[in-house]
Amino acid sequence: MSLEHFDKEIFDLTNKELQRQCDHLEMIASENFTLPEVMEVMGSILTNKYAEGYPGKRYYGGCEFVDEIENIAIERCKKLFNCQYANVQPNSGSQANQGVYMALLQPGDKILGMDLSHGGHLTHGAKVSSSGKVYESFFYGVELDGRINYEKVRQIAHIVKPKMIVCGASAYARVIDFAKFREIADEVGAYLFADIAHIAGLVVGGVHPSPFPHAHVVSSTTHKTLRGPRGGIIMTNDEEIAKKINSAIFPGIQGGPLMHVIAAKAVGFKFNLSDEWKNYAKQVVDNAKALAQTLMKRNYKLVSDGTDNHLVLMSFLDREFSGKDADIALGNAGITANKNTVPGEKRSPFITSGLRLGTPALTARGFKEQQIQLVGEKIADVLDDIDNTALQAKIKEELKELAHQFIIYTKALF
Ligand code: PLP
Repeated sequence: MSLEHFDKEIFDLTNKELQRQCDHLEMIASENFTLPEVMEVMGSILTNKYAEGYPGKRYYGGCEFVDEIENIAIERCKKLFNCQYANVQPNSGSQANQGVYMALLQPGDKILGMDLSHGGHLTHGAKVSSSGKVYESFFYGVELDGRINYEKVRQIAHIVKPKMIVCGASAYARVIDFAKFREIADEVGAYLFADIAHIAGLVVGGVHPSPFPHAHVVSSTTHKTLRGPRGGIIMTNDEEIAKKINSAIFPGIQGGPLMHVIAAKAVGFKFNLSDEWKNYAKQVVDNAKALAQTLMKRNYKLVSDGTDNHLVLMSFLDREFSGKDADIALGNAGITANKNTVPGEKRSPFITSGLRLGTPALTARGFKEQQIQLVGEKIADVLDDIDNTALQAKIKEELKELAHQFIIYTKALF
């Protein structure tokens, strides 16, 4: 029986979501469109299999084929990131990070990460996250110019003396200097942990420096710039660390691995290893730069005055309206983005003075600089006249027409 006949309610809602994804311009920097082939294997019979443990060392029988699948995923992941050990089992980026901490730290150990309100992630020590409850967390941030000041990080590290320094971010538009972070980590005897969840697709596409050989351990999600299934991975070149990571993921924090997702990770990695991938990664960055230029020409201030990667952070510190207002107005105009805090923030985290915009999803759809510039102009038009709901409705129709020229999925998928 088809889903349509078995569960019409969920079928209809899935189709509404498909329509939403087709009609709107997706500019949330952490979202993307995965391949139909990735979705095909994710929706396969592999979901039926229990395979606690690792290839060749499982707690269940009948694992000969899933062992092969997981080994292929591991080998492709190692090749992609040019490293010696990979764990492809984390169910998400957050669980990958939890696994890294559990492998290398004891409860109460000190970690030094990037402040959430400066672009870091919850799992980098925020007090509401287990990373900030189980470990004693300290933070570095960005300067008013929106950039990390590595001298300041060094000073904080020397005072705090953390067991681990976490680098990588959720909302940082500039290159991360992994070599500099490693220098600082070595000075204070800390592990360097690079969380490249946001930039992994750019790293493997050769348009952002790699965290290897600088970081002791690296984590990522597979669903953001990598365009694979929703999930996490952990990589290292150190055999001892690799063993500890494996034990921390299973049996430390997870049970049976999601074999359908691990197979989908392997399919995604195959795409990431192709020549086509390099073109995609370069286009993501070229598009973000084009967006930044367009917005700046229209007198909008960007944190760090531009971008090196897949995202731009608009700052409304000099405007009457907030990040939340901008988020709502652009949503009405068919552009999905998210409000964000900015350096020197004066509003609450629920209101904010910034907006984060990313180009990975529109680039996956086939948008090039020409279309991105047009989108940038429309964003400025909406924000210039932020209370004009009639204009928002008009732009929504125009952008829908543009979006439909770049069909990403068809109804036939469901
Ligand atoms: N690390 C960073 C830097 C992120 O931006 C995110 C997600 O936004 C994560 C980790 C967590 O990933 P997940 O949502 O898969 O748990």
